[in-house]
Amino acid sequence: MQREAWEQIGARKLFVEKLMTSCVLCPRSCGVNRFAGQVGFCGLDGCARCFREMLHPHEERELSPSHQVYFSGCNLRCTYCSVAEWNELPMEVEEAIALDDLARRVAERRKHGARNLNLLGGEPAVNLYGILDLLERIDWRTTVVWNSNMYYSAPVTEALEGLVDIFLADVKSGSAECGRDLLGASDYFSVAGQRVKEAARQTEVIVRHLVLPGHLECCCFPVLEWLAAALPEIKVSLRWDYMPPADGRPGPAGYLTQAEKECVLERAAGLGLNLIS
Ligand code: SF4
Repeated sequence: MQREAWEQIGARKLFVEKLMTSCVLCPRSCGVNRFAGQVGFCGLDGCARCFREMLHPHEERELSPSHQVYFSGCNLRCTYCSVAEWNELPMEVEEAIALDDLARRVAERRKHGARNLNLLGGEPAVNLYGILDLLERIDWRTTVVWNSNMYYSAPVTEALEGLVDIFLADVKSGSAECGRDLLGASDYFSVAGQRVKEAARQTEVIVRHLVLPGHLECCCFPVLEWLAAALPEIKVSLRWDYMPPADGRPGPAGYLTQAEKECVLERAAGLGLNLIS
């Protein structure tokens, strides 16, 4: 974080509070007063609920080991979500970790080798007020990673300026049809693309893309082509570890094949993308 931004967190909280009293934190624009206990699509009131925190050795090499902090609640409904139980009913998280305890754990994890604080979910943007509350409690020199689906409103980027060191932008579907069918948001790609560009004007961005079996032409290639055209220098992390949902959810069936993987690598190389692992 930058010290100046960290010192402004109180003012940023007031700004975010206004956005959440008739909530427009994301394109759902639910208009509910989250501080009056009302909930919108993401299912959260004004409080953030952390359901898991851990030191993770297998994020991108330059980020690991990373202190992952998972917040419940999300504004997408990915058919292949691996943490759906905490995201679809986020207020039912039992034993949520209190922010003071979480702040203590951030300091401990840092002592134990964490290179950064990795904020994820669910979706961190829908927990923005609670996250600012957490950042206010920790050392301003902590490196903050914003690990997000990037489906949020432009004022969120404004509220994060100088607080986030690295945006780990998890860019998903590359077409309106797959945005609708896989994520529940047909405007996903256009919104996320705007947010990635704004983030890149602020600080470092790593774009992560989970390659889905059977979704190269509609999702993977449009994302890669857009990156090559809009942000050719950006770091791109392709993820190959898609797992079909075990609970009967209608996510893409099967696993990525070796032929699909090779096809994606060939396309990325042809586009001159800056791949990292
Ligand atoms: S953050 Fe939640 S309540 Fe606010 S607009 Fe998005 S989905 Fe709706």
